[in-house]
Amino acid sequence: MLNATYEPINVTAVRRAMVLMLKGVAQAEELHSAEVHSAAHSHRVPSVIRLIAYRHIPQQSRALSRKNILLRDRNTCQFCGRVFPSSELTLDHVVPRSRGGRSTWENLVACCYRCNNSKGDRTPEEAGFKLARRPRPFTLHTRGSLCGSSGIVTNVGVSTFSTKHFGKFTIRSENFYGRRKPFWLPCI
Ligand SMILES: [Zn+2]
Repeated sequence: MLNATYEPINVTAVRRAMVLMLKGVAQAEELHSAEVHSAAHSHRVPSVIRLIAYRHIPQQSRALSRKNILLRDRNTCQFCGRVFPSSELTLDHVVPRSRGGRSTWENLVACCYRCNNSKGDRTPEEAGFKLARRPRPFTLHTRGSLCGSSGIVTNVGVSTFSTKHFGKFTIRSENFYGRRKPFWLPCI
């Protein structure tokens, strides 16, 4: 879902997307090939919708976790720049804990075991390492800007749904995901 200014906001369930469109709150920017049918009408399912009126979205930060750090850093070791599976990455304290470095978004980066061992208990400068990029908190806005509009895909996981106002719809497609809740698609 995009804001009126085309800024990505989130990934939303197709049911909600359809309701927003039918209420006139949002319009489709890209359509999926699938259709939903009611007794009298059929509608193409949107893959991208955009709000018609601008809405202020407060910054929402994500939980500080290993998974989210790896996601923020796109599974890329921040010292050698190589991409690894999650199992081959660890978290590195840029300023080591023994030097007062804290476990924060700004001081934790994805790091391969080789670089982690080689850096040891030193700062990047002391070890002759350069960070690929300055670590920052990971917010939904960060995520949106990482994805770009092509990465925003509406979740279409509800095969049959009804709304108060528009009766019962059934999605006629086999290409839909089986999930019921909106989720973030990996955009790596
Ligand atoms: Zn590395």
